[in-house]
Amino acid sequence: MENRLERIKKQLHAQSYKLTPQREATVLVLLEHEEDHLSAEDVYLLVKEKAPEIGLATVYRTLELLTELKVVDKINFGDGVSRFDLRQEGANHFHHHLVCIECGAVDEIQEDLLGDVEAIVERDFTFKIKDHRLTFHGVCYRCQDHSVTSESNSDERLTEKV
Ligand SMILES: [Zn+2]
Ligand SMILES: [Zn+2]
Ligand SMILES: [Zn+2]
Repeated sequence: MENRLERIKKQLHAQSYKLTPQREATVLVLLEHEEDHLSAEDVYLLVKEKAPEIGLATVYRTLELLTELKVVDKINFGDGVSRFDLRQEGANHFHHHLVCIECGAVDEIQEDLLGDVEAIVERDFTFKIKDHRLTFHGVCYRCQDHSVTSESNSDERLTEKV
């Protein structure tokens, strides 16, 4: 995590920004909660534990700056809340998401599965793709497991009656 923080620091320096203590606290929270897809308020509450003097406006500004510098990506899963997601190092495009409609879990697919689609879009629409968002809505493997278990339970009950 140290190294990643260092690299993000360099990324900021390259654009003539300093990693101030407030910015550093914000980046650390994002690194510690990399898979959590935090909203600005979530980030603020966690940063406050490290830097109690920090204000919500500062956290907002830092998140906007990090988005501009492509350290994080901003994403919305349809609930009207912007969430902040660290960009994978070396990734050209944003990773894909699987959003479970039953439990709300958000899983990630790091591999870019859109290569063929991108080739078609670039060819047929003469469009140079820079990035994309892909979110699948469905039922996660955990929730599928639950329904399998309850089905087998009811089967057992049936057998008991017989
Ligand atoms: Zn993500
Ligand atoms: Zn792609
Ligand atoms: Zn689920």
